[in-house]
Amino acid sequence: MSTLKNLLDKSSLSREDIILLLQAEGEAMQDLFRKATEVKRFYVQDKVYFRGLIEFSNICSKNCYYCGIRSANRKTERYNLSDDEIVDAAIFAYENGYGSIVLQSGELSNKRFVNRISNLLSKIHGATNQKLRITLSCGEQEKDTYQKWFDLGAIRYLLRIETSNRDLFYKLHPNNRLHDFDNRLKCLEYLKDVGYQVGTGVMIGLPYQTYDDLAGDLLWMKSIDVDMVGMGPYIEHHDTPLYDLRHLLLPIGKRFELSLKMIALLRILMKDINIAAATALQAIDKTGREKAVEIGANVIMPNITPYSYRDQYKLYENKPMTTDSPDDFLARLEERIKLAKNEIAYNEWGDSKHWEEKQ
Ligand code: SAM
Ligand code: SF4
Repeated sequence: MSTLKNLLDKSSLSREDIILLLQAEGEAMQDLFRKATEVKRFYVQDKVYFRGLIEFSNICSKNCYYCGIRSANRKTERYNLSDDEIVDAAIFAYENGYGSIVLQSGELSNKRFVNRISNLLSKIHGATNQKLRITLSCGEQEKDTYQKWFDLGAIRYLLRIETSNRDLFYKLHPNNRLHDFDNRLKCLEYLKDVGYQVGTGVMIGLPYQTYDDLAGDLLWMKSIDVDMVGMGPYIEHHDTPLYDLRHLLLPIGKRFELSLKMIALLRILMKDINIAAATALQAIDKTGREKAVEIGANVIMPNITPYSYRDQYKLYENKPMTTDSPDDFLARLEERIKLAKNEIAYNEWGDSKHWEEKQ
C-alpha cells in the first residue's frame, strides 16, 4: 500500500502507475482521493459550475449497442421539444444564475437538423442577452457545420470517444460508416481547429474493458489536450444488445468506485480542465455527483428538460427522474454541494481554465 502512496508523489504518472492506482482499495484509494482534492483546490478551487442540461430530442440515426435511445429500439417513444420549450428552458437557466446550458440530443446530420440548431442558437442568445454559454452535444457532424454553429455562438462541444481502444469501440458499435472510430477522432480534431472548448469522455466498467484500457483513456485525453471531460459508469439498459453481456460486468458499486478513481486520476493528470460529475453516477448513488465533486469534478449538469419528456431520454436503467419542483431541487443540491465542501458559482460561465490559458 505504501508503494501506491509513493506513486502519488511522482511528478508524472506512467501507464503502469495509473493501472496500479485504478486498483487502489481502502486507505490507498482514500489517499488518491485526498491528493485529487488538493489538486482541485489549488488549480480550480472548491467551486462547482452549473450547466443546465436540455435533452431536446431522443431521435437518433445511430445504433450504439449500449444506448437505450438507439434507433433500433422500437420501444422508445420518440420526442422532439419545440423551439419554444427549448428557449423557455434556456431562460429558466439564465434567470436562475446557471451561466451555461448544454443542448443534447440523439444524432442526426440532415440539413433540417443542422439548420434547426443554427436557428435555436440565435433564438437562445436573443432571449438571454448573449449571457449564457452554450455547449452542444449533438454528435458527429461536418466541419462546416461545427464552424457554422460556433459562429452562431456555441462555444463548447461535448463528443465522447466512449473508449479510446479501437477494438473495444467496435465491440460497442456496429462496424459501419455511421459508427466509425476514425471519424469520431477526426470530429474531435475539427472541433479543436474551429476553436471550441472541446470535451470528450468515456464510459467506465464496459464489458471487455480492462484497467489498461482505462489507463489508456486517461493518457489519450491528455495527449489530445482536451479542455473538458465528462465520463461516468456504463449502466446497462435491458432493450440494448449489450445487455446480453451483463454477466461480464463489474458489480455496480465497483463501477461507481472505479469511476471516482478515474475522475481523481484525471484531475491529477490534467489539473486545470473542467471535469463534469456525470449523471450516471447519480443513477447508482443518490449523492454520487457530489462525491465526484469532492474528489475532483467541478461541473454539474442539472437536468432542466421539461419533466414530461424526461422519462423518454432513457439511456440506461435507473436514470434519475426527479419530481422535485425546481426550487426544492436547487435547495437540496445546494445543501449537498455544501456538504461536499464546495460552493456553487452562480452567474459564472466557468470556462475551462485550461482553454483560457491557451487563448
Ligand atoms: N448522441 C450524442 C452522442 O452520442 O455523442 C449525444 C447524446 S448521447 C446519449 C450522450 C452520451 O450518453 C454518450 O456519449 C454515452 O457515453 C452516454 N451513454 C449512452 N448510453 C449509456 C449507458 N448505457 N450508460 C452510460 N452512459 C451512456
Ligand atoms: Fe444515438 Fe448518442 Fe445513443 Fe449513440 S449514444 S445511440 S449516437 S444518442
